[in-house]
Amino acid sequence: MHTFHYQDGFLCCENVRLLHIAETVGTPAYVYSKHTILDHFQRLKRALSPLGAEVAYAVKACSNLAILQLMAREGAGFDIVSGGELWRTIRAGGDPGRCTYAGVGKTEDEIRYALEQGIYCFNAESEAELRTIDEIAASMGVKAPVAVRVNPNVEAGTHQYITTGRKENKFGVDLDRVEALYAAIHHEMPSLIIRGLQMHIGSQLTSIEPFVQAVNKVAPMAARLRELYGIEFFSIGGGIGIVYDQPLPAAFPAWWESRESRSHLHIETYAERLIPLLKPLGLRIIVEPGRMIVGNAGVLLAKCLYEKKGESKTFKIVDAGMNDLIRPALYQGHHEIVPLVQHGDDLVTADVVGPICESGDFQAQNRPMHDIRAGEYLAVLSAGAYGFSMSSNYNSRPMAAEVLVDGGTWTLIRARQTLEDLVRGEILPE
Ligand SMILES: *Cc1c(COP(=O)(O)O)cnc(C)c1O
Repeated sequence: MHTFHYQDGFLCCENVRLLHIAETVGTPAYVYSKHTILDHFQRLKRALSPLGAEVAYAVKACSNLAILQLMAREGAGFDIVSGGELWRTIRAGGDPGRCTYAGVGKTEDEIRYALEQGIYCFNAESEAELRTIDEIAASMGVKAPVAVRVNPNVEAGTHQYITTGRKENKFGVDLDRVEALYAAIHHEMPSLIIRGLQMHIGSQLTSIEPFVQAVNKVAPMAARLRELYGIEFFSIGGGIGIVYDQPLPAAFPAWWESRESRSHLHIETYAERLIPLLKPLGLRIIVEPGRMIVGNAGVLLAKCLYEKKGESKTFKIVDAGMNDLIRPALYQGHHEIVPLVQHGDDLVTADVVGPICESGDFQAQNRPMHDIRAGEYLAVLSAGAYGFSMSSNYNSRPMAAEVLVDGGTWTLIRARQTLEDLVRGEILPE
C-alpha cells in the first residue's frame, strides 16, 4: 500500500496536498508518509508473527531521526552499518540492545563505541574482524556478542551493485568455511560470545526463490551451530523488493489499464514460504528490511525549471539532481514521475534531468509521461529508500528538506541546508 493519490486534481500524501508542501518548504524536498511506513512495518511483523520474528529496520535506507524515532516507538529493532548509524539510532531513542551491527569494514573506534553502548550483536564478515573485536573486548574487560555473516552463494536476480550473496561479493564468509570459523571463535577468542548466525543476499529482490534457496542452504548449519554453541538467533537479512514501475492510476487513466501487471514480492507469500523452513529451528528469527519499509512511503518533490527540445530528445530540466537522488545513475533505478497538479491526456516522451554537470544526472530517460511544463511541480515516486540517505553536496548543492506527513498534518523533519552548511568544517589556511 502507499498513500499517494490524486484528490480533486491534486497529488496528496495521506490528506495533505503535496503542492502545498512544495510551495511552503520549496524544492527539492523529500516527503514521507507516516502511516505508510507504519503499515509496512506492521504487515511484515504480522506476516511473520508465527515466528515471533524481530523486525530490525535497516537504518541506511532512510536514517532521519524522526523516522528512526517512529520505528523505535513502534517496537522495531535496528540493523546498523556504522558507528554513525548507531549514534543516530540512540539519539532518536532507539535501544542499542536491539541493534545488530553489519558491515565489512568496522573500525576500532566503531567497535569500541558499539561495545560501550551494549549492542545486541556484531555481525562479523571476516576472521580478521572477529580477532579485532576479540582484542578490543579483552582490552575493555567485556565480552562481545558476535554472529558470522554467511555468504550462501545464491543468485539474487537483482542489479549487480546490490547483489551481496555470491562468492564474488565482498560480503560474508563462504558457506564451507563458516563452521571452522565458529570453532576458532569458540577455542581461540575468549572475549567473544557466540550469539547467532546471519546472512543478507542482496537488495530489491522481486522473487522469493533466492530467499528460499538461501534459507534451505543455511538452515541446517544454523541448527548445528545451535547444538554446538547454543546460538540464539538466525538473521535472514533484508532485501525484500518493492514495485517501482507502477504509475498512479489517476495519473495515466487509459494507459495504465493496458500495462501488464508487475512482478511483485508479496509479504504474505514470503512469510508463508519461509516460516515452515525457519520455525523448526527453534531460534529467534531476525529480518532486516529497509527498502520494504520506507521505499514506497517517500517521494521527492521537484520543480521543472526549463524545457529543452533537441533534435532527438525532449528534456525536462528539474531542480532535483543526482546529488538528491542517485538511484537512476547508480543502479539504473526506475522511478515514476507525476505532476503535483493532475494533467489531462497530454503524454510526451521525455528525459527528466537535473542541473548537475554529469550526463548521468537524470531521473528518467525516454519516459512516456505527462507534459510537465516549466514552472510546474512534479513528484519522483518511490524515493523513500536510498534517496535522501545517499544524497550529497556535489556541485555545492545544499541537501534537500525532509517532511513527514501524518494524516492531515505535516512536519519539517530536516531543514534544507543553508549555504553556511556547505562550508561547515572547511578551513582557509592563513
Ligand atoms: C542494506 C542491508 C539491509 C537492508 O536491505 P533492503 O534491501 O533495504 O531491505 C539489511 N541487512 C544488511 C546487512 C544490509 O547491508
